[in-house]
Amino acid sequence: PADDLVYKRVLLKLSGEALMGPSEFGIDMPTCLGFAEEIATALQATGVELCLVIGGGNIFRGLAGAANGMERAQADSMGMLATVMNALAMQSALEQIGVPTRVQSAIPMNTVCEPYIRRRAIRHMEKGRVVIFAAGTGNPYFTTDTGAALRAAEMNCDAMFKGTQVDGVYSADPKKDANAERYDQLGYQEVLARDLRVMDASAVSLMRDTNIPIVVFSLHNKGALQDVLTGKGTSTVIS
Ligand code: UDP
Repeated sequence: PADDLVYKRVLLKLSGEALMGPSEFGIDMPTCLGFAEEIATALQATGVELCLVIGGGNIFRGLAGAANGMERAQADSMGMLATVMNALAMQSALEQIGVPTRVQSAIPMNTVCEPYIRRRAIRHMEKGRVVIFAAGTGNPYFTTDTGAALRAAEMNCDAMFKGTQVDGVYSADPKKDANAERYDQLGYQEVLARDLRVMDASAVSLMRDTNIPIVVFSLHNKGALQDVLTGKGTSTVIS
């Protein structure tokens, strides 16, 4: 790894909506390829060990299905399947530009991808493969934020990176309020008590219990992933 690499093993969480790009729904491949380029550049420059969790909100959310009359647990299974689609799309984007990857699903579907096996996932990362964890936790009533926190803890990650629309956590929505201030650092407890909604509360509290910092940064600044990995660039660190 590069001398200036601050976090040697990182889990990167992207929402499903990040993959929509300019569309209203689904997967925009040019957008996926843009993220793949970001990841490839950061991997090459830093030698970071990286795993990914991608949400499913661009395709299906369990809560929306339940609101539409579906049984919640059933709708959540559909949401988890949506995350598998996103994982396969990102796998395709990464491999098009030569980044070796493995997808591991919390819901086994052995003809499509590997089942989740913790020690095998660690081995993949040690060999320089990007592991994409699909299907969240594999359980209904959870979110992919919590799935990401769980995998970050299981993988012994040095940080969980949360890519968002803006370059950190602000006191108000910076797109609506010109006086909104960005925080450089926050405590887990403060995020929970003030309900800052960076990630859901169960994800934040799992990161608190396992002492893994959450690094919030922008997906839209080119080179940001590499910069933040090496202690440059802007972000909010929750620890
Ligand atoms: N989901 C689930 N269990 C999990 C993770 C996800 O049931 O452990 C379902 C849930 O229905 C959720 C959907 O998958 O709405 C998509 O995930 P999420 O809403 O977290 O995606 P994001 O908001 O990150 O795009």
